[in-house]
Amino acid sequence: MSSKFDHDVIVIGGGPAGSSFARVAAGAGLDVLVVDKRKEIGVPVRCGEGLGSLEILKQGFVLPRACYSIEIEGAKVYAPNGKSITWRGEDTAGWVLERKVFDKWLCELAIEKGARVHTYTRAVGVVKDEKGRPQGVKVSHGGKEPYEISAPLIVSAEGMESMIARELGFKTVHSLYDVDTCYEYEMKPYNHENLIELYFGNEAAPRGYVWIFPKADKKANVGIGVGGLVQNGTKQGGIKGADPKTLLDAFVKKDEQLKDASTLLDFGGVISVGSPIDEFTRDNCMVIGTAAKQVDPIHGGGIGLAIDTGIMAAGTAIKAHERKDFSKNMLMEYETVWRRQKSPTLANRLKLRKILEKVSDDDLNHIFNTLNKEDLQKVMSSDFAPVAMKVLAGRPQLLAVLRGLMS
Ligand SMILES: Cc1cc2nc3c(=O)[nH]c(=O)nc-3n(C[C@H](O)[C@H](O)[C@H](O)COP(=O)(O)OP(=O)(O)OC[C@H]3O[C@@H](n4cnc5c(N)ncnc54)[C@H](O)[C@@H]3O)c2cc1C
Repeated sequence: MSSKFDHDVIVIGGGPAGSSFARVAAGAGLDVLVVDKRKEIGVPVRCGEGLGSLEILKQGFVLPRACYSIEIEGAKVYAPNGKSITWRGEDTAGWVLERKVFDKWLCELAIEKGARVHTYTRAVGVVKDEKGRPQGVKVSHGGKEPYEISAPLIVSAEGMESMIARELGFKTVHSLYDVDTCYEYEMKPYNHENLIELYFGNEAAPRGYVWIFPKADKKANVGIGVGGLVQNGTKQGGIKGADPKTLLDAFVKKDEQLKDASTLLDFGGVISVGSPIDEFTRDNCMVIGTAAKQVDPIHGGGIGLAIDTGIMAAGTAIKAHERKDFSKNMLMEYETVWRRQKSPTLANRLKLRKILEKVSDDDLNHIFNTLNKEDLQKVMSSDFAPVAMKVLAGRPQLLAVLRGLMS
């Protein structure tokens, strides 16, 4: 480490993105400090905890049993008229995590590689040199007087808040249209198969859906995500925010099992469902994970992407450290690789979201009547073309929606 700086890298945020970055960078010998404003890593949980796949398991990691509540076998998806399609994977189709354990596990892996982690430590500002380049951050431990710590590379892994990323010059402000506002209960008792359940329909969840992610001991995460702006048909119908809690309460009241269940946890949150931000790197800094809006626009899932991105960005940071070059030019490698590997699938999924947003409940019912579990499997793996052809054959008027999106 250069004597001019306290650390080689300061990572803001000890979520999946920050911890994964820290593990890889510290493993290569960099002096990495992670600061997180929370008193305890992973707590409080603000997440549905569903995870479809985990790339690091292909690199020899084993997911500790305590990190997940149950293994998922597949999905059951409901149309507005109540018709459902069930898809079951051949192997494990994913997990419903225990994020307070999972996030801590990822963080402990980073510590084992030599990263240092300071909880209850909030980054409150950026320290810059005379040329305006970031050289450190101001942090406050437990709300006390802020102090400065320095590093030639600052990594924002702050999640949705991304306050420091904004100060670093990244355009992380969210348009209301590109966020889902969410509300979730952990509920018990709920008897279930090990399937995630998703409920669609403009009445139940305008521009979004209701999820039931089952957990062990007859528990379930029951949540809703709805678009920040509601559309009336294909015409944008003014700014009419849907209240996710009211909608979720209405759903729970109608559900035979849930209406008598108790709530163990109750929280709201927002998640990005638009495109990622337009740049991930600037001189001496990077943004990773949900802070860079690297989220699946269909379901708002961001855990897997955050981990993959943390690893990818750390690869570039290691090279930058070796070359003592933290310019945007050097750090751009991470962004170039990310956009090549991740953008095409996410762009396709954003298109699918925009199609789903524009179809009526009647169209949705038609789509569900047309599809079978093999089609659902194709949609899950982003192979939309054959499924779209099948749906359009039975309802050609939906072509207008598709054309509108292409123009
Ligand atoms: C209601 C809801 C349900 C969701 N359900 C799912 C789901 O089922 N599956 C899924 O994959 N994704 C889900 N997500 C999204 C998922 O939670 C995020 O995409 C994921 O946590 C991103 O990881 P991250 O490391 O980028 O950010 P985060 O996990 O948000 O971590 C950011 C960390 O930065 C810290 N931080 C922020 N600002 C500062 C600061 N100034 N100083 C110090 N520390 C700071 C925070 O305390 C936090 O620990 C959901 C989100 C919401 C809101």
